Amino acid sequence: LAQLFRPLDMLGWVYRTIRQGLIDMEAMFGIVDTPQEVRDAPDAPDLQVSAGHIRFEDVRFGYEPEREILKGIDLEVKPGTMVAVVGPSGAGKSTLSRLLFRFYEPTGGRILIDGQDISEVSQASLRQALGIVPQDSVLFNDTIGYNIGYGRDGASQDEIEGAARGAAIHDFIAALPQGYASQVGERGLKLSGGEKQRVAIARTLLKNPPILIFDEATSALDSRTEAAIQETLRSVAARKTSVVIAHRLSTVVDADQIVVLHEGQVAERGTHAQLLRRNGLYAEMWNRQQSERDEEAEAAE
Ligand code: ADP
Ligand code: MG
Repeated sequence: LAQLFRPLDMLGWVYRTIRQGLIDMEAMFGIVDTPQEVRDAPDAPDLQVSAGHIRFEDVRFGYEPEREILKGIDLEVKPGTMVAVVGPSGAGKSTLSRLLFRFYEPTGGRILIDGQDISEVSQASLRQALGIVPQDSVLFNDTIGYNIGYGRDGASQDEIEGAARGAAIHDFIAALPQGYASQVGERGLKLSGGEKQRVAIARTLLKNPPILIFDEATSALDSRTEAAIQETLRSVAARKTSVVIAHRLSTVVDADQIVVLHEGQVAERGTHAQLLRRNGLYAEMWNRQQSERDEEAEAAE
């Protein structure tokens, strides 16, 4: 009889694991209301990633029908390049990343990866191809090692530590009494926002997907830690397609293209130098942040 039940146990486990995964994914994105379920077509093929070319075509979206958040976004991320998305808070930057991950479907237009409409491929294959470090990372109630290793099934301890080093969190973990076996989350160690961000970065480094999305992924870090991680991210992103959402503009000056989102539309796009010359919204944001930095430096003297 026990033999008979084993497959059922297994099914239950698979179900719980997937269910928990979905809940954690939603939590990771800071989505409080469970969005309407996005379903795969019954025979949805897997996404085939070749170069990692992303294209948003006239994408429209609103969380509520009466309030459109994205009002026709055209955006291209060429293979192997980095596009930065900047703009004031509430502009719709995180919404873009949620649509790319297909937490929601656009109400108009479409999003293509290597020519395939992401709404027509299986969600599992899409999410396999994307590595996202969200704005507010939520960790599993498990060990810190599990939280990093979750990035890739069957990762070895060495690989987990390597990823932790890349995210500048290894020394912190190694100094804990129980090291990588330390429990985190509600029933364990409470990590700061910056520590959680670094765990999420390590997880994504370990996953090593062809497409990376960083949504203000280093916003909770002090500038020295940020600079240390930025170097890792730059070398990792060098061979990948990446979208970096940033509030602190000093982190995006090297991007191949910077897109300024304003009230749900692309207001400006170009390189850092081009946008400064243009003397528009980006230049205004840059100048404001530079003078804030100078003031902080003076205050610190
Ligand atoms: P950004 O990341 O640029 O700060 P967001 O993409 O998070 O902006 O949000 C864009 C707009 O959408 C904001 O006005 C925000 O209040 C709204 N919004 C975000 N998430 C939800 C949601 N789950 N339900 C309703 N409105 C939302
Ligand atoms: Mg955001």
